[in-house]
Amino acid sequence: MFKAAFKPSPSDRENALWFIIQGGRLLVKRNSRPAVIPQTRHLAESIPEFVHTQFLGHLDGQPCFAAGPPPDFQPEDNLDFRGLKSLFGRIDENHLWVAGRANQLVRWSRHHSYCGKCGQKTTEKADERARICTACNLVNYPRVSPAIIVAVIKEDQILLGRSGRFPGGFFSVLAGFVEPGEGLEMCVEREVFEETGIAVKNIRYFGSQPWPFPDSLMVAFTADYAGGEIQIDGQEIVAADWYTKDNLPDIPPGISIARQLIDWFVDSG
Ligand SMILES: [Zn+2]
Repeated sequence: MFKAAFKPSPSDRENALWFIIQGGRLLVKRNSRPAVIPQTRHLAESIPEFVHTQFLGHLDGQPCFAAGPPPDFQPEDNLDFRGLKSLFGRIDENHLWVAGRANQLVRWSRHHSYCGKCGQKTTEKADERARICTACNLVNYPRVSPAIIVAVIKEDQILLGRSGRFPGGFFSVLAGFVEPGEGLEMCVEREVFEETGIAVKNIRYFGSQPWPFPDSLMVAFTADYAGGEIQIDGQEIVAADWYTKDNLPDIPPGISIARQLIDWFVDSG
């Protein structure tokens, strides 16, 4: 179980897991499967040189740190960077989620090294997870980008669409980012209508899942069909249709809340 924390105790560095992030990739032991996260003893000489170092908390009691490598970093022979998404299903699931946090926070810290208002250097704020400008005191918190994801149900069918973004042509439930000034239910109505021309009603909360690749929070809903015929824009969504549980197309594998929504539909039929 993971317990988030902000400040490490002095001994926490001695026997920690180190989630070293470079451009969306994670440092792991070469050829390890499931992938093994390096610990303090594997990295001892490199640790003082890491940048954007942050304490994340404890996983089953073991301290976890996130950091980025310095520019000229050469991993030791038995360590290698691997794309985070390529590790899905090939790494302990708890380690994957902690690596996601690490990815989100290291990326945020790296991208906010300078103030967005006045351009001067920022520094870590001492009392909370934030960066503060050394000149104008603007405070910047880690960004979380909320997105909705929704299973639209019409009698015994579910609305699934294929996005140009899904690798391998998966069909999935519809999703989209929340816009400024918008409530979550408003976003559900807008996204479903924009992407498929379908109106929905009875929007109900289903659950949520952080998706820190790089910084989303997926908020999942179910909804009922209220009217309209499927009309796709051909860009964001390249195909969409209603499917019964017996004729599902290729759907996303594994751990995503999209898959949990589709599994819920299959089990509830
Ligand atoms: Zn500033």
